[in-house]
Amino acid sequence: MEKKIKRDVIEKTQLTNIKNIIIVASGKGGVGKSTVASGLAVNMALEGYSVGLLDADIYGPSIPTLFNIQDQHPVIHEDQGKNKIEPIFKYGVKVMSIGFFIDPKQAILWRGPLASNGLKQLMNDTNWGDLDYLIIDTPPGTGDIHITLLQQYEINGAIVVTTPQVLAMSDVKKAIDMYLDEHVGIPVYGVVENMSWFSPSKHPDEQYYLFGKGGGKELAKAFNLPLLAQIPINETICQSCDEGKLGELFNDTATQKGFENLTDGIIKHNKN
Ligand code: ADP
Repeated sequence: MEKKIKRDVIEKTQLTNIKNIIIVASGKGGVGKSTVASGLAVNMALEGYSVGLLDADIYGPSIPTLFNIQDQHPVIHEDQGKNKIEPIFKYGVKVMSIGFFIDPKQAILWRGPLASNGLKQLMNDTNWGDLDYLIIDTPPGTGDIHITLLQQYEINGAIVVTTPQVLAMSDVKKAIDMYLDEHVGIPVYGVVENMSWFSPSKHPDEQYYLFGKGGGKELAKAFNLPLLAQIPINETICQSCDEGKLGELFNDTATQKGFENLTDGIIKHNKN
């Protein structure tokens, strides 16, 4: 049975020091949602915004690896009788991940109230300070984490990440439908197409459409949404993400342009 989100009956937690909360979503895993969320957060920081990044992908928290902070342990201290968790500051972004606290082998057990409570603790107890943007990397699909976020917090908007070939997949459409549902009413700012084409580093002008062409555009059109950005497949991304050198993403002009377009597509909606 479909889970209905009763948005109006639950009083929301106000995080008054955070101006805008943005969800990064996808229909299925492996499309580069975490890479896009991370690149977006780093680009916003480069543009001078105060940014937090929360990795709420309980089934595959990869942000600590992307930022190469997987061996770090966030400090927890008491402040006025409440526990506060210090985010890890890297590339200008305050990073917090559910992956710091769960054993990946147990992630599958994180369902229902356990996932929901873990998420709320990270949202409420992290010492975010004043933020212009909190970017949340959510698990693929539509599950407990999404429902908790939408019920409990004032989410400004969502972006949906896809690859060119997943057009036919119903999962991504289901995710968009959930945000646009009249009971949820979260604006979907648009679609990001990741792995749009491949350009060899020695021939940056050549584009090879390995996963097909135009899928992101068609998906966006089907929902009357803008295609906010296209991010190419690129050797630098593969290497830099595996080695945790996220900052190197921006050495590639087309990738940098993609993240700038994405940032522009978001900031025009929001409170600054
Ligand atoms: P998701 O969060 O959707 O599961 P990830 O962001 O973890 O996906 O990305 C999955 C894999 O694909 C990672 O190894 C990542 O480095 C790689 N990847 C993501 N985007 C790109 C890209 N544009 N070009 C090359 N590799 C990419």
